[in-house]
Amino acid sequence: MNMAVLTRPAVLILLGPPGAGKGTQARMLEEKFGFVQLSTGDLLRQAVAAGTPAGLAAKAVMEAGQLVSDEIVINILRDRLTEADCTKGVILDGFPRTTVQAEALDDLLAETGQKINAAISLEVDDAAMVDRISGRYTCGGCGEGYHDSFKQPAEADRCDKCGGTEMTRRADDNAETVASRLEAYHAQTAPLISYYSGKDVLKTTNAMGEITDIAQDMAAIVTEATS
Ligand code: AMP
Repeated sequence: MNMAVLTRPAVLILLGPPGAGKGTQARMLEEKFGFVQLSTGDLLRQAVAAGTPAGLAAKAVMEAGQLVSDEIVINILRDRLTEADCTKGVILDGFPRTTVQAEALDDLLAETGQKINAAISLEVDDAAMVDRISGRYTCGGCGEGYHDSFKQPAEADRCDKCGGTEMTRRADDNAETVASRLEAYHAQTAPLISYYSGKDVLKTTNAMGEITDIAQDMAAIVTEATS
């Protein structure tokens, strides 16, 4: 048997509309399996904060709840994938979001002889997404996610994970922008469900229940897909 095949870093994709819980689940999988969460949304927000050319181009598009150009996002992801920690395996959270990005990912992985272990679709009701998104906030210190109704820290405004007290809310987590983000998801990203089904790597999970139950389902899928 070819040993190189056995040591290939895992590649997992999380698909789902904004608010489905991709970020929360990616962080849990990161902790459980040691993979690295790659969120193109986080990478873009960092680029915006740093004022890079990509960040400057992306800022207004993100604030409008639309998709940043394939070229910018693919370049950002390509650069990130070359970093050393990605050899632990990656969980792609929010990428790909278009067929062009999915094809670019296939090409990138082909260059390194990697393959997609699973594309996991988090299935949710659109109607619940606005509530989920408008109540969420994040620890500025470690990035742990919280929610006004579904996941509060033990002590108000103090992060359970790192003790940080700087909680931040995303500029695009408001009702109007969420509507555009959901529209972009259905028009441009939902077709990837058939794309990955056609490649025989699609897995689906009901993402409307308790975070810990969903995490258990996801862990079972990941264990099977990476063993
Ligand atoms: P997220 O944090 O994944 O919800 O992404 C926040 C915003 O960043 C999205 O609404 C888009 O404007 C942009 N974005 C993130 N990932 C992508 C992507 N793969 N393609 C295009 N735009 C993206």
